[in-house]
Amino acid sequence: MAIVFWSSHDVFGFRFLLLLTVMYGLMSMLTHSVIYMKFVTPLDHHAPLDRFSEARTVEHVRMLSEEIDGRQEGRPGLKKAAEYIKGQLEIIKDRASSNLRVEIQENNVSGSFNMLFLGHNIALGYRNHTNIVMRISSVDSKDTDPSVLINGHFDSPLGSPGAGDCGSCVGSMLEIARLIVDSGWVPYHPVIFLFNGAEELFMLGSHGFMKTHKWRDTIGAFINVEASGTGGPDLLCQSGPTSWPSDVYAKAAIYPMANSAAQDVFPVIPGDTDYRIFSEDYGNIPGLDIIFLLGGYFYHTSYDTIDRLIPGSIQARGENLFSIIKTFTNSSELKSTYLTNSIGVTANAFNDERAIFSDYFSWFMMFYSRRVATILHSIPVFVFLFMSFMRGRSHSWSAVFFDFMKGFLFYAFGTTLAIVMPVAFSILRLQFSTQAMNW
Ligand SMILES: [Zn+2]
Repeated sequence: MAIVFWSSHDVFGFRFLLLLTVMYGLMSMLTHSVIYMKFVTPLDHHAPLDRFSEARTVEHVRMLSEEIDGRQEGRPGLKKAAEYIKGQLEIIKDRASSNLRVEIQENNVSGSFNMLFLGHNIALGYRNHTNIVMRISSVDSKDTDPSVLINGHFDSPLGSPGAGDCGSCVGSMLEIARLIVDSGWVPYHPVIFLFNGAEELFMLGSHGFMKTHKWRDTIGAFINVEASGTGGPDLLCQSGPTSWPSDVYAKAAIYPMANSAAQDVFPVIPGDTDYRIFSEDYGNIPGLDIIFLLGGYFYHTSYDTIDRLIPGSIQARGENLFSIIKTFTNSSELKSTYLTNSIGVTANAFNDERAIFSDYFSWFMMFYSRRVATILHSIPVFVFLFMSFMRGRSHSWSAVFFDFMKGFLFYAFGTTLAIVMPVAFSILRLQFSTQAMNW
């Protein structure tokens, strides 16, 4: 048997390694609990009526994904889903107090358009797609008042029950509509709910709304809710065209889940949402694109079922949405789109490009403009040069430059690893698990 003598250096090294293991272990546990919404308590059916309840929302999801079969164009399920949504809205309307005006419409939209999708030019023509629209406003509001739109689709892709995509969106919108009515809140500006019936077929429902609806010109801000999974972080994936929507999000979100890097990456992802119709293709409306990310391997498959929704996710989504809607409707920036397009609503502090933001474990948001970022992100360079200068002449400038380049390369290497490692692990996971997809 060999006896190993450890030098004091070895002991120090071992302790340091142990400390790193414990630290990264704890950080992983914390990240896991944040991502799986362990810190959010879902409210049940008996929750007070002035609170958003996940259980009440999931009941809508159950109706849409289990009781109704197949929510695709051409199948009876889609019509049944539209009837269910309209029925629920009528119930909500009946409960509304006399200081609220609640309007419900069923619109059949038809149209045609050209779209550039993943580098391909696609021509689309469609007829008689059903949208359900609801507008909640104060009794003294006018038809032309600037409004806030919240959009979600109730159709689902072929073969998928669509509990996450996008039963969870429709359920949340129904619960929020109920919450507005039951909480006694009178929106300062009208709130429009668009339950659109054709998103999976290249965003036809939202196109139909933007081309034909009389309220389209009144929309001053929008929120698009989507799902490319069954819960987890309800990530703010796109925002724009200015930094105003993300600023509203940063101020309002109860559980902020946002990172400006996500919208830099989004254009590379082979997919699109209704966001582009409202904000880019058929309007220049400031808005947010909020998407469930976890459980991507169930997305658009027969596994997108109600039992796979991650508890707590819908609760966090609902509380966020209600608070964001309130902040949008109270915001002085909210003007109708025709004003936005003609005089420029954001000809103020927000006239710069998109801002830099990130949440910290969903506890709070860091948010600053690009100009601040330029200064803030340059500080380390100046600190480095200052420290080198303070060290005096013993340190030559060539050595300073060498150190600087070394640090820069380390950083670049670290960033590359941060991209390569997750991709490598997700490929490995596909090899050794039965899951067909990985985000
Ligand atoms: Zn979807």
